[in-house]
Amino acid sequence: MALLVMKFGGTSVADLERIRNVAGHVKRETDAGNACAVVVSAMAGHTNQLIEWTREAATLHDAREYDAVVSAGEQITSGLLAIILQSMGVQARSWQGWQIPVHTNEAHGAARIVEIVPEELKRRLGRGEVAVIAGFQGIGPDNRITTLGRGGSDTSAVAVAAALGADRCDIYTDVDGIYTADPRVVPRAQRLDKISYEEMLEMASLGAKVLQTRSVELAMVHRVRLQVRSSFDPPDAGLPAGADVAASSGTLVCDEDEILEQQIVSGIAYAKDEAKVTLLNVQDKPGVAASVFGPLSEANINVDMIVQSVSEDGKYTDMTFTVQDTDLDNALAVLEQAKDRIGYGEVRGSTDIVKVSVIGIGMRSHAGVAAQMFHALSEKGINIEAISTSEIKISVLIDAAYAELAVRTLHSLYELDGH
Ligand code: ASP
Ligand code: MG
Repeated sequence: MALLVMKFGGTSVADLERIRNVAGHVKRETDAGNACAVVVSAMAGHTNQLIEWTREAATLHDAREYDAVVSAGEQITSGLLAIILQSMGVQARSWQGWQIPVHTNEAHGAARIVEIVPEELKRRLGRGEVAVIAGFQGIGPDNRITTLGRGGSDTSAVAVAAALGADRCDIYTDVDGIYTADPRVVPRAQRLDKISYEEMLEMASLGAKVLQTRSVELAMVHRVRLQVRSSFDPPDAGLPAGADVAASSGTLVCDEDEILEQQIVSGIAYAKDEAKVTLLNVQDKPGVAASVFGPLSEANINVDMIVQSVSEDGKYTDMTFTVQDTDLDNALAVLEQAKDRIGYGEVRGSTDIVKVSVIGIGMRSHAGVAAQMFHALSEKGINIEAISTSEIKISVLIDAAYAELAVRTLHSLYELDGH
C-alpha cells in the first residue's frame, strides 16, 4: 500500500463529467489499496471569473476580501468531488485549507505556506478515507483565508505530499507530460520520461505553464518526486488491476541522479511575455546601475536580462534590460521619474521581443553549447539582442517575428526531434 497525493487542475475538473472522470482515477488507486489525498483546483475559468468580480466590485480592494472570494472556486470542486466519490462507494471528505490547517504567511493574494499540520489527515487516511483538499488556499496569521498566487494548487499538492511523506505525488493535467519544446510550435517535440528538478525549474520559470515555479522549488527542497500525467487518459487505461498507471506514462520530475542517460540539452523554451527597455546615453560612471535598478526593485519590478554596451568615449553608454511585459508601463514611469538622478538621454520600451532558451544539466560538463547556438541562429539571419546564462541554461533575446524559427532550429540542432 502506498500513500499518494493526486492533484487535478482546472481543465481536469471543468464540469461534472470531468469530475466523475477524476473520481474514476481516485477509485482506481483506492481499489489498488492505496491511501489517497487529492488536491483540486477550481473548475476551469472559475478563478478568472471570481477575480473579475472583485475588480468590478471595486478596482482597489482589500486583499483579505479578494482571498475570501477567489478561494471559493476550490471549495466548490472539493465538495463536488467528495460527493461523487461517496456516491461511488468511496469514503471521502473535503478539506478547506483552514481545516487541515495549511498555515501561510500574511501575504494575501500571494501567500507562502509556512507549515502544514498533517496529523488529522494522516489519521483519516489511515482508516481508508480519501481526503479531498481544496488547493490554492490556506490560513494566515490573521486567522483569515489566504491564497497562494495563480497556479498555486500545484504548490498545495507538493506541500501536502512533503508534509505527509507521500510515496508519490501525481500531477494530473491536460497534457501528458513535459516536452522537449512546445508541441504546438515544434510538431516533432518529444515527451521526456524524466526531467531533473533544476531543468524543470528553468522550464517553468521560462514559460512552460505546466507547473507553478514555486511548486518545483518546493519539490526540489523536499525531494518530492512529481509524476506529471494526463487526466484525459481513461481511468483504467486498459491496464490490469493494481498496475502502476502513473509510473507508466507522463514525465517524472526527479533528482538528476535518477536520470541515467542525460542529454546535453533537454529542452527549448520560449517566453513571449517579456519587454525590452533601453536607456540611451547613460553616464558611464560608478553607481549608475544602482541608480537604475534600485528604483525598479523598490517598485517591485523584476529585471531579467541586462546588457550594457561599451562606451566609445568613456563617458556615455547604452543599457538594455528586460522586464515582464505587464510591468513595462510601470518601469518606464519609474525611470522617467528617476531621470535626473540617473542621468540619461532617452528611454525606449518595446514588447515585440521573445526570449528563447536552451536548457540542460549536461551543459555543466560540455563546452561549446552556446557557440553552437549562436552559430545556428546567425545562419538563419536571427540577430541576438541580449544573452544571459546560468550553469544549465542559455537564453537569448530576439525579435518576436523569429520566435518559432529559432525554437525549431535549436530543437533540431541539439537532436531533440522525434519522428
Ligand atoms: N485556481 C487557481 C488558479 O486558477 C489555482 C490553480 O489552478 O492552481 O490560479
Ligand atoms: Mg495549473
